[in-house]
Amino acid sequence: MATYRIGVLQGDGIGPEVVPVAVEVADAAVRAAGLSVEWVDLPVGIAAYAQLGDTLPQYTVDALSTCHGWVLGPVEHHRYDPGRGMRNPSGTLRKLFDLYANERPARSLPGVPSRYAGVDLVVVRENTEGFYPDRNVLEGDAELRLTPDVVVSLRVVTRNACLRIARYAFELALRRADLRGRPGRVTAVHKANVLRRGDGLFLECCREVAAQFPSVGFDDLHVDAAAYFLVREPERFDVLVTTNLFGDILSDEAAGLVGSLGLAPSLNAGDRYAMAQAVHGSAPDIAGRGVANPAAEILSLAMLLGWLSRRHGDGAAAEAAARVEGAVCAVLQDGVRTPDLGGSCGTVELARAVRRRLG
Ligand code: ATP
Repeated sequence: MATYRIGVLQGDGIGPEVVPVAVEVADAAVRAAGLSVEWVDLPVGIAAYAQLGDTLPQYTVDALSTCHGWVLGPVEHHRYDPGRGMRNPSGTLRKLFDLYANERPARSLPGVPSRYAGVDLVVVRENTEGFYPDRNVLEGDAELRLTPDVVVSLRVVTRNACLRIARYAFELALRRADLRGRPGRVTAVHKANVLRRGDGLFLECCREVAAQFPSVGFDDLHVDAAAYFLVREPERFDVLVTTNLFGDILSDEAAGLVGSLGLAPSLNAGDRYAMAQAVHGSAPDIAGRGVANPAAEILSLAMLLGWLSRRHGDGAAAEAAARVEGAVCAVLQDGVRTPDLGGSCGTVELARAVRRRLG
């Protein structure tokens, strides 16, 4: 029986509500699939700062390097004070462990009230550079305040990062084509008409990789047009690949098309490690009330199990992932819903219903 070590970082806000119940669901599924997982609780975020004086203690980073993957709950990093050394664990972990691909699916789920039916797309977002000032310089910050009235923000785009994110998107499109029984399509989203050099390089790399995947369709859209078509006809998209900031924005938009942020999972993947992390933030407006939807965190863990299965050639991990997804869909179809979906069920109640479905 394969044993995996998976780190558990609860995070801030609704994190301590949704992460533990998601782990319970995933644990039930891995056991049912004949796997064993050692879940390793690790301090992070505001609780870690209060206890250990660090939002991302070195102890946590060292322990993660001995794990196969981990789940990170939401972090309320706009409350963190960089002046007191409070690092954003999310961005720092993505960079430290080279988790270069952020995969964010948006799919219409049966029984979930939403604006559109028939949406089944994935936003693949570059994670390690772009317009994120905490990722672009070795020391300090890539946003410079030159005078009280002038700020310069530096954006980094490299050929290596563009090529590997494009490859990730095309490989994903191939896998989805197999699953869905129809050819895949990758749409590169950019603003190369204005950001001629940075997005020009991104587009050039996407075209180069597209030529290596002749069975996958390829087109490209300016980011403004992509935002427009996402709202008008989201069913037309399969895999969208884009740079860091555009991907962040478009994936929240895509989550809104199919229901709620509470249903939007994501995976941050590199070649050696992967981190499950729901798209939503710490949701301070509902934290502590026991009403947050845990489905996004549960489905993110299913994505991590899917990644473990591909990385380690392990069919049982794929089976566990499929069990989790199947159970979440069945429960939602039964009408078990948290308030974000118009229901009245609580976080623990929904997770319990999913566990019961797992058998
Ligand atoms: P942060 O700054 O940490 O990103 P935020 O409030 O700006 O916090 P989100 O936390 O993503 O952004 O929340 C956006 C909205 O979606 C809020 O109204 C929040 O309550 C809701 N929301 C987010 N996650 C969930 C969830 N799991 N279940 C129910 N509602 C959620």
